[in-house]
Amino acid sequence: MHFDILTLFPEMFAGPLGTSIIGKAREKGLLSVDLRNIRDYALDKHAIVDDTPYGGGAGMVLKADVLVRAIEAVKGDEPAPVVYLTPQGRLFDQQLAAELAQLPRLILLCGHYEEIDERVRQKWIDREISIGDYVLTGGELPAMVVIDAVARLLPGVLGDSTSAEQDSFQTGLLDHPHYTRPAEFRGMQVPEVLLSGNHELIRRWRLKESLRRTLLRRPDLLQRKELSEEERQILAELEQEFGKEENK
Ligand code: SAM
Repeated sequence: MHFDILTLFPEMFAGPLGTSIIGKAREKGLLSVDLRNIRDYALDKHAIVDDTPYGGGAGMVLKADVLVRAIEAVKGDEPAPVVYLTPQGRLFDQQLAAELAQLPRLILLCGHYEEIDERVRQKWIDREISIGDYVLTGGELPAMVVIDAVARLLPGVLGDSTSAEQDSFQTGLLDHPHYTRPAEFRGMQVPEVLLSGNHELIRRWRLKESLRRTLLRRPDLLQRKELSEEERQILAELEQEFGKEENK
């Protein structure tokens, strides 16, 4: 998959995109990223990219001519969706990450300062994505979040391909607890079942703990999920357990 990133601050991307799993994926050619500086598309001698807003008020607005020149240059003749990172966009989640991971190429436009000229949004942006209900100084961190979440779903990027399948949200549930050696740490034991070697018991324990976590922390996820017969049964067990605890 190829990402083109339009930004005023390409240097911000070096660490997150050059390190660990994403850095290795790029080395292996599973993922490629081109960073384009929006300022390179300003034609005047001071390379001005922004101006004061019509109607007055605080902040600077990124200029339509510079942004459109940048988008058109990057796009070339190949069709590729242009995504504008903005707090006003669709909330980014695992489902959207999976959808984007099917695409061969994505162009990410990072805003900065007060806003980009509205006319760019009207005609040159295909979709708008927000990484949460808060306002950041620029679209660079959101672009990195999108790339990271999408990249780990690409075939071959994660060492063990099953690890993404079991992650929180992928199944509609939160992930179960994890433990590693030693079996006892400062008096705390690893649950017995995980040491049993019984794959069926371990699978059921993990499903039950996933359901427990989701029920306690994110019951909204359960309302949206189509539950299997087994999941329904386990939820009934959990509700009984919670009922007994309340009556103690
Ligand atoms: N005035 C804008 C508003 O209220 O919607 C906020 C602009 S913000 C200060 C500057 C830039 O940061 C935006 O153009 C956008 O690219 C990016 N940004 C800020 N928060 C974001 C978020 N939650 N998700 C995605 N992008 C965000």
